[in-house]
Amino acid sequence: MTYVAITFVFLLVLNVYCSAACQNLFYESKKSSMIEKCLLAADEISTLEVLNTSTVSAVMGQIESLKATRLLVTDQTGCTLYDSSTATAGSYALFPEILSALDGNDVCSWRYQNGIIDSRAATPVYYFGTIVGCVYMTDYDTTQGGLIQSLQRTILVITLLLEIIVAIFSIAFSNTFSRRLNRIMASMRIIREGDYSHKVNMGGSDELTCLGNEFNELTERLQTSEQKRSRFVSDASHELKTPLASIKLLTDSILQYDMDLETTREFVSDIGNEAERLNRMTEKLLCLTRAEGAGAQQEMEIIFMAPTVRRVARMLKSNALQAGITFDLQLAEDTSILILEDDLYQIVFNLMENGIKYNHAGGRLTIRLRREEDNAVLEVSDTGMGIPEEAIDHIFERFYRVDKARSRQTGGSGLGLAIVRSIVQRNRGTITVTSTLGKGTTFVVSFPAFDAEVDPV
Ligand code: ADP
Repeated sequence: MTYVAITFVFLLVLNVYCSAACQNLFYESKKSSMIEKCLLAADEISTLEVLNTSTVSAVMGQIESLKATRLLVTDQTGCTLYDSSTATAGSYALFPEILSALDGNDVCSWRYQNGIIDSRAATPVYYFGTIVGCVYMTDYDTTQGGLIQSLQRTILVITLLLEIIVAIFSIAFSNTFSRRLNRIMASMRIIREGDYSHKVNMGGSDELTCLGNEFNELTERLQTSEQKRSRFVSDASHELKTPLASIKLLTDSILQYDMDLETTREFVSDIGNEAERLNRMTEKLLCLTRAEGAGAQQEMEIIFMAPTVRRVARMLKSNALQAGITFDLQLAEDTSILILEDDLYQIVFNLMENGIKYNHAGGRLTIRLRREEDNAVLEVSDTGMGIPEEAIDHIFERFYRVDKARSRQTGGSGLGLAIVRSIVQRNRGTITVTSTLGKGTTFVVSFPAFDAEVDPV
C-alpha cells in the first residue's frame, strides 16, 4: 500500500505539472497573438491626426484581420471612442488592462475556466511619442479552451489507468510475496518444534528461493548436529555404563559371598581399575568437548614442534619400556607452527600412546618432524598390529575401537583419535593414516608452517 500511495502522489504531481505546462504553452501563444493584434490596431490609429468616434470607427472598419470578441479603443483619459460589441462610446472603460496600457504598458491577462479561455490585452496608442489612447481587446476562445480541457482529461485518464495498473500489480506481487514468506515462517515454526527433517519448497528462482535453499541447508546442518549430539550422548552413556556395571557386579559379589581376604583384595583392586577407567574416560570426554568447542579464545603462538615431541617421549618412556618399545626420534629442529602448546601436546601424546599400545613387544615407534614446502609435517609410525582396511574410515569416530577387548585392556576409550582430529581441523591441518595389517601404522599430520622469529633451542 505504501508503494501504491507513493506512485499515486508521484503521478498526481506529474499530472498537475503537465496540465500547468500545457496551459502555460497555450497562454504564451495567445498572449503574443493578442498583443500583436492590439499593436496592429494601435499602429493604424496612431496615423490619425484627430481621434474621435468617427475617425476611429472608420479605421477599425478597415482592419478586417482583427478577429476578437470585443474590440475597444479609448482616448488618453479612458473614454471609449470605439466598442465593437456594445454602443458604449462616450462612457469610460476603466478596466485594469486599459489603465495599465494608458501608463505605457503592453498588457495581456487570461482566465481559463470550464474549457473557455477568457483573454484580455491592451496596448497604448502613440502619436509622436505621446500616449493618446489605447486599444483593448477581449477574446473568448472555446476551441483552444476545449483543446486544453481534452488534453487535461487525457492526462488524468492516463494517470488513473497507470495508478490502477500499479495498484493491481502491487497487490498481486505483495500477495505472492507474503504467501511465500508465510511458507518460510510456517517452516520455521515446524523446525522450532523439533522436526529438523522438514524442508521448505519455494519454487521459482528469485531471492526468496535462495533464502529457502539457505534455510534448508541450515536445517540440514541442524539435523546433522542434532543427530551427532544424540549419538554422542547415547555412546557416552553406554561407554560409562560398562565400568559402572562392572563396579556394581564386583561390589555385589563381595557383599553376597564369603570370600577370603586375597579374593576380596583382588575384587577391590578391580573396582579401583574400573574407577580409574571411568576417570580417564570422563577426562577424555572433557578434552574432546574442549577440542570441538572453545580453544579459539586462547592466544595461539608460533612454536617449535621438536621440544613438545621430546616432552611427550619423556612422559611415555616408562610405558614404552614396559611394553619393550624403542623410540626413534628424527626431528628437524626448525619445524614451527602456529598452535596452542597444549593442543600440539595432545596430538603428539595420543598418537604416540597409540603407537605404544597397539605395537608388538620389542617393536619400534618412529617420530619424524620435517618441513615439506609450506607445511610442517609430523609422522608417527609404528611396527605394530596395523588397522584392518574396513576400519580405517572409522577410527576417528568417537568411541570406535577396532578390537574392543584389547583397547579396554590397554585402557583405551575410543576417544583419542577423535580428539586428535578435532584439534588438527581446528588448526587448519590435515591428518592421514596408512596401515598394513600385522606390519604397522603411520599417521601423518600436516600443518601450515609458520616461521618463528627466534632460533630453535
Ligand atoms: P583408544 O583409546 O581405544 O586407543 P583411539 O581413538 O585412540 O582410541 O583409537 C581408536 C581405535 O583405532 C583404537 O581402539 C585402535 O583399535 C585403533 N588404533 C589407533 N591407533 C592405532 C595404531 N597405531 N595401530 C593400530 N590400531 C590403532
